[in-house]
Amino acid sequence: MFENTERTELSALGEFGLISHLSKHFISKNDSTILGIGDDAAIVKMGDAYIAISTDSFIEGVHFDLMFHPLKHLGYKAVAATVSDICAMNAIPTQITVAIGLSNRFSLEAVEELYEGMRLACEKYEIDLIGGDTSSSRSGLILNLTAIGQVDPKKVTYRKGAKPNDLLVVTGDVGGAYMGLQILEREKKVFIEHPVMQPDLETYDYIVGRQLKAEARVDVIKLLDELKIIPTSMMDVSDGIASELFHLGQASAVGFDIYEDKLPIDPQTIDTALAFDLNPSIMALNGGEDYELLFTIDQRDWDKIKNNPDFTVIGHANELVNSYKLNTKSGNSFDIKAQGWEHFSKD
Ligand code: ADP
Ligand code: MG
Repeated sequence: MFENTERTELSALGEFGLISHLSKHFISKNDSTILGIGDDAAIVKMGDAYIAISTDSFIEGVHFDLMFHPLKHLGYKAVAATVSDICAMNAIPTQITVAIGLSNRFSLEAVEELYEGMRLACEKYEIDLIGGDTSSSRSGLILNLTAIGQVDPKKVTYRKGAKPNDLLVVTGDVGGAYMGLQILEREKKVFIEHPVMQPDLETYDYIVGRQLKAEARVDVIKLLDELKIIPTSMMDVSDGIASELFHLGQASAVGFDIYEDKLPIDPQTIDTALAFDLNPSIMALNGGEDYELLFTIDQRDWDKIKNNPDFTVIGHANELVNSYKLNTKSGNSFDIKAQGWEHFSKD
């Protein structure tokens, strides 16, 4: 039972308010704890190396819908999403652990599918599954993954560190995973109403793939190393660029100016957004689950990335703390609102 009889709704704090409320009484005691709560991963010192550690949960009905997430893809995606937070520290992932809660609904064959997806991801990212936990669950499938990685202390990259005039770079393209989810949800509704109809997913292969077959950008971390670039700040795009921009800005005490015409959006994302009567740029800013990397670099490093189509400069940092401006194609400037995914939000 609770000793405190007051009742405050979690929605009054929101996900990030709740994390800072709960964590404020935990002060790190060990010299080996280089960075605790507040970034994509914690950083711990082991000998001469820094170790990055990050945990992610995947709850049926919250993070995925088994009506359209095949178990093999889900296993792969859970590993990719967890590894993505290790990449966000400029670290190379090395190991994962997997805790799983299963209800009787799942057969051995189903769990084997899930693990086959995780095995493929471990192979792709060259990481080892080194442990975990298994238990029964009364509310569907629950996954909890912890990823570990290594980074040279001179190369570790935090959310803090961006300086005014640094360039803001995003990898790949954004908004696709969210539009893919809209397609999958629409086809699910059609299927429930008319079970004989076959879903039309081929037209949307790229964005549906972005939703179901997420990848962590371990390749980008290796490439940055080859190019001799250490970003001044970095995080991964799990909740949408707009929301991540606030995290980078707050941690670094800078503001950002970004340019609508620079946002890297795949043509299929644009066409689908327009067909849903949605603004593609808003989808690119607020859609989550792209697992791309968003980072800042010193302007002197621009030459090293300018010819790589996988890197797009979308704006720059400035000294205006708490200012996040979107400069539109029509020449206007708007304050960006973070509408990205947040647990316990009021709407
Ligand atoms: P990300 O989206 O990059 O995975 P989160 O927003 O989930 O990051 O978490 C932000 C920070 O808060 C991380 O440092 C994470 O370890 C920490 N955190 C999240 N939930 C908890 C919790 N229940 N207890 C302690 N730390 C937490
Ligand atoms: Mg992250």
